[in-house]
Amino acid sequence: MRSRLAPSPTGAFHVGNVRTFLLTWLHVRAAGGSLVLRVDDLDGPRVKAAATQEGLDDLRWLGLDWDASLGVLVQSTRGDVYAAAAADLVARGLAYPCVCTRSEVESAASAPHGPDGPRYPGTCRGRFASLEAAAAATGRPVALRFVVTRGPVAFVDGLFGPQAFDVADETGDFVIFKSNGTAAYQLATVIDDAASGVDLVIRGADLLPSTARQLLLARALGLASPSYLHLPLVVGPDGRRLAKRHGDTSVRALRAAGWTSAGLVGRIASTAALCGPHESLSPSALLSRYSPSQLTTAPVVLDSTFFSSPR
Ligand code: GLU
Repeated sequence: MRSRLAPSPTGAFHVGNVRTFLLTWLHVRAAGGSLVLRVDDLDGPRVKAAATQEGLDDLRWLGLDWDASLGVLVQSTRGDVYAAAAADLVARGLAYPCVCTRSEVESAASAPHGPDGPRYPGTCRGRFASLEAAAAATGRPVALRFVVTRGPVAFVDGLFGPQAFDVADETGDFVIFKSNGTAAYQLATVIDDAASGVDLVIRGADLLPSTARQLLLARALGLASPSYLHLPLVVGPDGRRLAKRHGDTSVRALRAAGWTSAGLVGRIASTAALCGPHESLSPSALLSRYSPSQLTTAPVVLDSTFFSSPR
């Protein structure tokens, strides 16, 4: 088994991120598998340079390691690889230039928007012969969109079971290369998972619909697809995904409040029934207690008492 830790250095990790990293680490290490580190730093201005280092420091502080001998994939250094794959898709008619702005897509969309934005109505499909032609004809920045085929994309998630998404209905032709010249998450992740030999992707359940898109892309690129195991999200008492509005649950803030690494790891592991809520344990000490059969799909609800007594 080979999986990956793929932090997005967009700010401090919060408890939801940590829970996913911890369970990924336990799942892979308990099976004797390997872990590749990948830095998902494509996200332009939201990515802060120092945040990458801080993120890796947080992982180390928590006691989560990765196999450095497998290399570290830093997405911001792999632009050429992503561009070549995108060009190949365009050459084969599987992707096309698009000059639509976000607000144009929003106003053209007939259906209500899902969490991943409005469905693209296909305005630019078949409109331009090449990226250069699109730029010359419109004077606008040009993105590339993937040609999505109709029909359900089915897969069996390792925890959530059988899934099916009709990508054409959900997002339509989605962006694989942004008009600012960087690869979009969907393309970069498919290429990197294949390049690093990852055969099991473990990540938050918010990405379940993305999996269908990634399966389509992998097929088009002739890449092997990994298996997928999605973990339930951590939500606030209002049932919404954990965010700033629920208070600062960043590793940084919890450390400042007096939490030790083992205290915090134990507190988070208790949400997966791996130990009691007041136990302090390192990830290594949790290994013998971990069993995949303990994972459940129920969202983890975190209220204000969760971190009230640091230890
Ligand atoms: N970097 C993404 C995140 O932190 C994970 C992407 C993935 O696992 O495919 O949510």
